Amino acid sequence: MFCIHNAKLILADQILDRGWVLVENDVIRALGQADPPDGHERVDAEQLYLAPGFIDLHVHGGLGSDFLDATPDAFITAAGFHLSAGTTSICPTAATAAYLTFDSFLTAWQTAKSRSIARLLPVHLEGPHLAPSKAGAQNPELMCPPRDEHKEWILSRARSVSQITIAPELPGALHLIEDATRAGIRMSAGHTEASDKEMEAAVDAGLAKVTHLFNAMSSASKRGIFRQAGTLEYALSDDRIFCELVADGFHVLPTLLKLAYRAKGPERIALVSDCLAGGGLPEGTGFQLGRVRCKVGPGYCMLENGSALSGSSARMIDLVRVMNQQGEVPLFAAVRMASLTPATILGIDSHFGSIQSGKTADFVLFDDKFAVRRVWVGGALVLDQLK
Ligand SMILES: [Zn+2]
Repeated sequence: MFCIHNAKLILADQILDRGWVLVENDVIRALGQADPPDGHERVDAEQLYLAPGFIDLHVHGGLGSDFLDATPDAFITAAGFHLSAGTTSICPTAATAAYLTFDSFLTAWQTAKSRSIARLLPVHLEGPHLAPSKAGAQNPELMCPPRDEHKEWILSRARSVSQITIAPELPGALHLIEDATRAGIRMSAGHTEASDKEMEAAVDAGLAKVTHLFNAMSSASKRGIFRQAGTLEYALSDDRIFCELVADGFHVLPTLLKLAYRAKGPERIALVSDCLAGGGLPEGTGFQLGRVRCKVGPGYCMLENGSALSGSSARMIDLVRVMNQQGEVPLFAAVRMASLTPATILGIDSHFGSIQSGKTADFVLFDDKFAVRRVWVGGALVLDQLK
């Protein structure tokens, strides 16, 4: 047993000054304020912030490695990059590709799981059943409506897949949403032209969230003499839907961060990095996103010709900082969107996502400049940058 004490303890709805947390093996046994219990090894948190380990639902890679490179080494490199910013659980995300490529991706994930220090959770498939007109940086030629053989592939691998991003307006999408949801997969609308009516039908069929709110989705437009809502406004207005938010300060600018927070609150927003292989590389470095050439920009990733954003180079701690400073959200709420809310979406919130007695001891310790100083996974100190 050991006791981390003298911390600003970030709980789901408040911050405890001079907080302590008692850990036995990999589980939080107790927590409190002021004087810690006697008789245990003590770790002085030096009045820094102690938060639950972050959970990233949507992340493609980092440090030059893309999970879709489909090698265990690529998984280890990218996961290590995110772990050093406090992400203790990762849903490796594959951009649109052929299902044959997804097979290699899953094989690599399976092998990497036992070697990775960060938890490699079941994967997120961002495609290929997306709207080509909202392809963004993904390859529209590989996008298609779901067919029976796709559904069979998905249902037979349901335990390895946590989320699928889909355009609900495609033929056959509603049936897939229904069946995959029943199999335990969280279905997410993204890269989509869906109208509010199509979104409502999808949510009724089980759709759980939207992928990167504001990015690559339909919004209000005039049809005939009336203005009709799109995916964006539907997601903001239906309490049943969770929203991913790439709060890196570039994909979604401050006014929109505030709008999202006002509409959904911390219980319905999951901060996601959507970080590409370029994350962590020097500005100007070129890299591949599938067949698309990208380069690292000043704080984000973009197409090689600079015409559009292609993904972020951010990590979870960056999103927490931006949500707190630019979105003007209380720190505990920003942390909640990076931990408890994603855990709730995945259905693992009874064991992960907050500092609470009985939950797993995954923590990140950071200072008031959002520099990560220590990380614990399952009670084990895996990163130590405390002097
Ligand atoms: Zn993505």
